[in-house]
Amino acid sequence: MSNKSMPWMGKLKYFAKREKSAEGWSEMSPVNRDWEDVYRRRWQHDKVVRSTHGVNCTGSCSWQIYVKDGIVTWETQATDYPSTGPDMPEFEPRGCPRGASFSWYLYSPLRVKHPYVRGALLDMWRDALQTHGDPVQAWSSIADDPAKVKRYKSVRGKGGLIRASWGEVTQIIAASLIHTIKEYGPDRIIGFSPIPAMSMVSYAAGSRFLSLMGSPLLSFYDWYADLPPASPQIWGDQTDVPESSDWYNSGYILVWGSNLPMTRTPDAHFLAEARYRGTKVVSVSPDYAEYVKFADTWMSVKQGTDGALAMAMGHVILKEFYIEKPTDYFMQYAKQYTDFPNLLIVEEKDGVHTAGRFLVGEDLGITGNNMAWKTLVYDENSGTYAMPKGSLGFRWGEEG
Ligand code: SF4
Repeated sequence: MSNKSMPWMGKLKYFAKREKSAEGWSEMSPVNRDWEDVYRRRWQHDKVVRSTHGVNCTGSCSWQIYVKDGIVTWETQATDYPSTGPDMPEFEPRGCPRGASFSWYLYSPLRVKHPYVRGALLDMWRDALQTHGDPVQAWSSIADDPAKVKRYKSVRGKGGLIRASWGEVTQIIAASLIHTIKEYGPDRIIGFSPIPAMSMVSYAAGSRFLSLMGSPLLSFYDWYADLPPASPQIWGDQTDVPESSDWYNSGYILVWGSNLPMTRTPDAHFLAEARYRGTKVVSVSPDYAEYVKFADTWMSVKQGTDGALAMAMGHVILKEFYIEKPTDYFMQYAKQYTDFPNLLIVEEKDGVHTAGRFLVGEDLGITGNNMAWKTLVYDENSGTYAMPKGSLGFRWGEEG
């Protein structure tokens, strides 16, 4: 009987008796093991370099990157962070599963490596360039024609992007910028470049380019719209946040809207360490999310009601510490750090009084630069209005 007529016979070779040793715990194998070289080659590398991941996670974790023939083959977390001293937790360990598989993104066939332009616009552009020769005139012939503008803008969100060359898209962008500057002025161009946490070079190049043209640069949060606007409005800073290790110095932490182990993976250990120190933690979450495990108290709000919860908390603080029992600590904080003391215009609508916009110098007939943008406070000592520096009107003009 041959293996050919009985194919299952070939498999029996794995059950054949072979020479054994070590009291039967080992045996000689005649099977070829060259296939294991594939596995060994997977981990071979020419050199190890230091890097991180510029993906706006802002973690900036330190990684050892293993490279072979110029290709990233694998990565491991670096562990040589400088010590923060005996009184604070160390930064190491840092890293996250997304970072550990980052080289997959680098070489993914889905990665966008070429410029794409919406087909409706690219066709019009190529025709216009052929007709006019001059790129700025070509762009003007599209931008000044409402029917053409509608044709490419109305298909936004519907796909239809086709690949173009870098030269071609650079020409379109340059022509459109010059057209806008000539027609409306450079301050009608508003731009955004990748945030420093993703790439310092990209950020610097984009912001410098816009600044040199006299065009405004959107802040990162204007662009993503993921910052509570009340934060810069009330405190005057774009973001007023300590670094994560500083959580350790806190006595009470309210975690809300950030699933730390998932979205702040390399820093989540600081919260665990703060718990060992005795820090009280309250988590606000409708579900038993990963960050709830750190909490002494889990406020399981109903989905969609956390805005109401925040307003209720604000209401209690205002009522109890500013009206019923004015408390010096709260008063001084609000006066020193927030826009609370700025006076408002009270508006009446349907018999109800509500807070309107800020009272500004112009409202009181005060003359000078930018009075429409200079807010006022009431000075108890002099019994009259005062104009504190730092409001928007002081940024430009003689003072700015
Ligand atoms: S948080 Fe993750 S993706 Fe970001 S730098 Fe650290 S390891 Fe990389």
